Amino acid sequence: MDSRRLSYLRALDIDVWERRDSSRPTHASAPIEVSPALLHADAIKPAQQQPAQAQPIQDVSDLNWETLEQAVRGCQRCPLHQTRTQAVFGVGDRRSKWLVIGEAPGAEEDRQGEPFVGRAGQLLNSMLKAMGLGREQVFIANILKSRPPNNRDPRPEEVRECLPYLYRQIELLNPTLILCVGRIAAQTLLDTDTTIGKLRGKLHHLAPVHPAGKPRPMIVTYHPAYLLRSPAEKRKAWGDLVMALRTFEQLEGTAA
Ligand code: URA
Repeated sequence: MDSRRLSYLRALDIDVWERRDSSRPTHASAPIEVSPALLHADAIKPAQQQPAQAQPIQDVSDLNWETLEQAVRGCQRCPLHQTRTQAVFGVGDRRSKWLVIGEAPGAEEDRQGEPFVGRAGQLLNSMLKAMGLGREQVFIANILKSRPPNNRDPRPEEVRECLPYLYRQIELLNPTLILCVGRIAAQTLLDTDTTIGKLRGKLHHLAPVHPAGKPRPMIVTYHPAYLLRSPAEKRKAWGDLVMALRTFEQLEGTAA
């Protein structure tokens, strides 16, 4: 295994065991030791939760990437526009098959105009790299595009006003798999108060906003900020990422 991949796995507190007798790698493109239960077909059946009914998105549903970004940057749909430095649209490859969804910009994201650039963002980068993905190879967005003051939880009315932007991003991107990080993002998108401990470990499907749309496969894991506070949970998060990789391969038809 190359030393950089090793350091990303170590950032996740993952012990890496390499076979002495072979060069069999343990990274994303090769078999990874996971619980057989995780690989069993049942483990990736859709969960029962009903996804959130997003608000009508009449006004953004025909926007392209550029006009959508302009709309987000100028958005005044909720009072957060009065306290933000700038809106945080999202970043990454607009043709990626992976979409990472977080909660809302924090102080550093508000300052730089880019999601996940603080300490949590650095851990997210390590998580992605441990999966064999560069930050620039995925698209990263948040539920809220504006920073809630003092990093408080998003309010329902803010989420209601902001979600149409995210749903339009999902339609434009058309990702194979969504990786949803954190309780707030997961509970919001799945319209549930089920704990994140129960939401992780299964494949969910985000319902389409339009009747003609398609359900979006989604896997939930812990928020990197939570993992910084609770490093003992990193091992479980790594299990989620492995499941995400396996699911992605199955959805793409590239599973070994
Ligand atoms: N936490 C999030 O959920 N999103 C960010 O962009 C930064 C921190």
